Amino acid sequence: MAIDATWALDWIARSQVVLAENRERLIDLDRQIGDGDHGENMDRGFSAVEKVLSAEPPTDVPGVLKVVAKTLMSTVGGAAGPLYGTAFLRAAKAAPEGVLDAQDVAALLAAALEGIQARGKAEPGDKTMVDAWAPAVAAAREIADGGGSPEEVLDAAARAAADGAQSTEPLRARKGRASYLGERSMGHLDPGAVSSQLILAAAAKAGRA
Ligand code: ADP
Ligand code: MG
Repeated sequence: MAIDATWALDWIARSQVVLAENRERLIDLDRQIGDGDHGENMDRGFSAVEKVLSAEPPTDVPGVLKVVAKTLMSTVGGAAGPLYGTAFLRAAKAAPEGVLDAQDVAALLAAALEGIQARGKAEPGDKTMVDAWAPAVAAAREIADGGGSPEEVLDAAARAAADGAQSTEPLRARKGRASYLGERSMGHLDPGAVSSQLILAAAAKAGRA
């Protein structure tokens, strides 16, 4: 499997499907520690992205990710829109135009995390999407540095994101709307960490049967 524009288009198509399937679940999670709009925000955003991409599919990875960024910024309200928008914009800038190798994939994910943190100023442990992305990036780097393939990098990132999302359950939220709840935010999964887990799982599945 080449990590190229076809992969990127499949990544986003799969993200749209899985976010639509998990719309109610993300709404429920956000209802518990937020305002209940996260599932709707993500479904609306990625549906809009899919429309633009299928009408006029870009021919390189940066082109695909730029469309994702722009469309999410203009269609997703709340905290998640600008956070994911910045993530995809930074990822677009980090990605080469041709086929990505394992180091390029790790760099793409690292750039996305940098964007999220530049925008939202959250650290690991604050109970946000950073708790999915930070371990994903660490795992991706480790595999890439150890000579792993791009597929292995993506698999490791997806697994680490899943564990990271799960790790948010006991945490007390220190950023975003959930932080208003103080201790009452404990005992619930962070919705943005779960949507990030879904998006990173889609990245690992993309381009495969
Ligand atoms: P809103 O909180 O405005 O309703 P969403 O419900 O769409 O927006 O998104 C909430 C998610 O955004 C949270 O679950 C969390 O993962 C993420 N989030 C909120 N604030 C931050 C931040 N400062 N840094 C990183 N992620 C954040
Ligand atoms: Mg919300």
